Amino acid sequence: MGFLNIEKRNQSERKPLKRIQDWDEYRLVMPEAEVRQQAARCMDCGTPYCQIGTVLNRGTTGCPIHNLIPEWNDLVYRGLWREAYDRLIKTNNFPEFTSRACPAPCEGSCTAGIVSDPVSIKSVERSIIEHAFAEGWVVPKPPLRRTDKKIAVIGSGPAGMACADQLNKIGHNVTVFERSDRAGGLLMYGIPSMKIEKDVVDRRVRLLEDEGIVFKTGVDVGKDITESELRAEFDAVVLCTGAGKHRDVPIEGRQLSGVLPAMDYLTASNRHLLYQEPLLPDLDAHGKKVIVIGGGDTGEDCVATAIRQGCKSVVQFGKHGQLPGKRVENNPWPEHPNVFSLDYAYHEAEELFGKDPRAYYVETKKFLGNASGHVTSLMTGSFKSETVAEKKWDADLVLIAIGFKGAEDRLFDDFQIDRDPSGRKVQANDQDYQTSEDGVFAAGDVRRGATLIVWAIEEGRRAAASVAMYLDRKPSPLVNE
Ligand SMILES: Cc1cc2nc3c(=O)[nH]c(=O)nc-3n(C[C@H](O)[C@H](O)[C@H](O)COP(=O)(O)OP(=O)(O)OC[C@H]3O[C@@H](n4cnc5c(N)ncnc54)[C@H](O)[C@@H]3O)c2cc1C
Ligand code: SF4
Repeated sequence: MGFLNIEKRNQSERKPLKRIQDWDEYRLVMPEAEVRQQAARCMDCGTPYCQIGTVLNRGTTGCPIHNLIPEWNDLVYRGLWREAYDRLIKTNNFPEFTSRACPAPCEGSCTAGIVSDPVSIKSVERSIIEHAFAEGWVVPKPPLRRTDKKIAVIGSGPAGMACADQLNKIGHNVTVFERSDRAGGLLMYGIPSMKIEKDVVDRRVRLLEDEGIVFKTGVDVGKDITESELRAEFDAVVLCTGAGKHRDVPIEGRQLSGVLPAMDYLTASNRHLLYQEPLLPDLDAHGKKVIVIGGGDTGEDCVATAIRQGCKSVVQFGKHGQLPGKRVENNPWPEHPNVFSLDYAYHEAEELFGKDPRAYYVETKKFLGNASGHVTSLMTGSFKSETVAEKKWDADLVLIAIGFKGAEDRLFDDFQIDRDPSGRKVQANDQDYQTSEDGVFAAGDVRRGATLIVWAIEEGRRAAASVAMYLDRKPSPLVNE
């Protein structure tokens, strides 16, 4: 009942004007005494909505991996960190990723949130896993016995890593194929290091390698190794290739240089930091007027990146209006609350430039350029009203962050698998994750559409369980006994 007299606190954040001078994580782990107090706010509800993990009104409600939240809250409150860690990893393969970047749908459906502020679940989760790493509890645990079964997981994002982890734990031989030169999927080259530092991703990949999973990076499946070669070598294949096909803005002037997809920009920035690779001028926001088209999280990460690169100004166009200050009637608890918040990038922009960079209902009509074919400005109207006059905005760099269309077309041809009715995702249900091809499974963004790390982990885990059952139907003599 601590929520009655203890105020909610979250992981504290480094000061915006200070943190924009580097690329380190902007959130800090909560001190131990404080996190124990925060955990005491949990009511240990009979029906813990925080862990239901479902979709209500098209939004995620509760924790999709069904983290045992009230149990570990109580253990943390009592200072039983080891036990809390053991409970946490029963459901979550990678708490160090979720506790940094998850939007915490668990908190949106926390019962305390009906009458007060929800429990700081994500902060408690982060403290548990950081505590475990600091204490040396997170060590490789290779399986004691190996089967003779071989599984190929294509894609090393959170879905692929979770799937590989689960299958390896039961002794199967797992190889993860990754097109990029580094494992981690969007955790490595999409999400900026202010949210998840890259050594946090490398650390987990090393642990998985030490447990026996083979990562083959720089291998583009479909080109460097064909589907039939894979099928000949492996007993099952799991596609965890993400939803990398991005949406575009096919309007006049789109071909101008300086107008580019957000992912090209974010990937280049991450590579620049990891390898000190020079940034091409078009991928560097330094001294530029930047416009980000798209009001979502990818757009927000572009804002934060442009600020760190030293942009002159930044504006982010959203299609929709500003969210309300509190829940509206058609968004009741336990749904995830769609309410206004000043997330990290907006806070930084406000402190640096004196205003929130977001502009609402903005429809981009055309891009204008100079004689050398570089963008100089763009024209906009309004998604809300046709009577709003067209407006001209100066721009030297325009980043398109309006979401993802889904799986890459090549995949369907390479693997001869069916599309779902939308045509954008791989057809496979969330019971067996089996595609239209026997022995080929799909999990994560490629099956679900662009979503969250926590859903990708859940999909990877469930697909692994289905693969294990599929393999059980084949005789599986144990080797290395
Ligand atoms: C900019 C950005 C910020 C985000 N921020 C957040 C956030 O804060 N919180 C959150 O919860 N979610 C966030 N997300 C969403 C989250 O990153 C994704 O939902 C998640 O990474 C999906 O995991 P996945 O494993 O399905 O796919 P991915 O992470 O996309 O991994 C797929 C992998 O497959 C590889 N691949 C593709 N084709 C092939 C092939 N033919 N051969 C070999 N390898 C191949 C790709 O190179 C890639 O590494 C963000 C997404 C973006 C783009
Ligand atoms: S993974 Fe996300 S939803 Fe689940 S407990 Fe952690 S922060 Fe909450």
